Amino acid sequence: MIFDVITIFPELFEPFCNESLIKRAKKKGIFDIRVHNLRDWADDKHKTVDEKPFGGGLGMVMKIEPIYKAVQELKSEARSPKSETNSKIILFTPRGKKFTQKKAYEFSKLDQIIMICGRYEGIDERVARYIADEKISIGDYVLMGGELPAMIIIETVTRLIPGVIGKPEFLAQHLISKKGEACPELVEGFLEHPQYTRPEVFEPAPGIQWKAPKALLSGDHKKIGEWHNKHGKIISK
Ligand code: SAM
Repeated sequence: MIFDVITIFPELFEPFCNESLIKRAKKKGIFDIRVHNLRDWADDKHKTVDEKPFGGGLGMVMKIEPIYKAVQELKSEARSPKSETNSKIILFTPRGKKFTQKKAYEFSKLDQIIMICGRYEGIDERVARYIADEKISIGDYVLMGGELPAMIIIETVTRLIPGVIGKPEFLAQHLISKKGEACPELVEGFLEHPQYTRPEVFEPAPGIQWKAPKALLSGDHKKIGEWHNKHGKIISK
């Protein structure tokens, strides 16, 4: 899988891409993150990517032309001569559809995700209307830019790709419904049960005891499994 990020602040991704799990998975060739400076597709000598809004108003708006050119080039680079590339163009906007764990599963099956990060007062709306396949919001609040949303997508999607978090049973475990049957719907919006570790009893002050659940300490796999199922949560359908 390839993540193509289009941004005017590519340097924000340097520490992120060098974080241990992501770095290791990239090295193994499980996925690639390519961060592109939108200004590389600007025509003028000042590398302009923004303009004043039509109708007036404060701030600047990101122009459509460099974004169009960037997307065209990145799509054709990933195209395989043998098969159709399963690719999606995502635009980040607070007016988009809310990102969920289910969406992350959907995205994890793609070959290429091209992400457009806005800044300033946003992006010429024709990008949303004619270029983007999906408009995504990460929550009902307004950020300064789409770079954090891009990192959120990369983290949530990559940890679903086998081999990335080195815990293959993670996915299989969620395939089991409460009745013990395979249940793919559960996988798509499932949040794991809470976790505990040593000590079994923590005493923050004399006479106060914060205990780990008995079932998890029992050594009885059936009981532990039941506790896990009971405390797992479906967060989106
Ligand atoms: N008035 C603008 C609007 O409503 O789109 C706000 C633009 S915001 C300052 C700049 C950029 O940050 C947006 O173009 C978008 O890419 C990104 N952004 C801000 N909040 C976001 C959110 N909740 N989800 C996804 N992207 C967001």
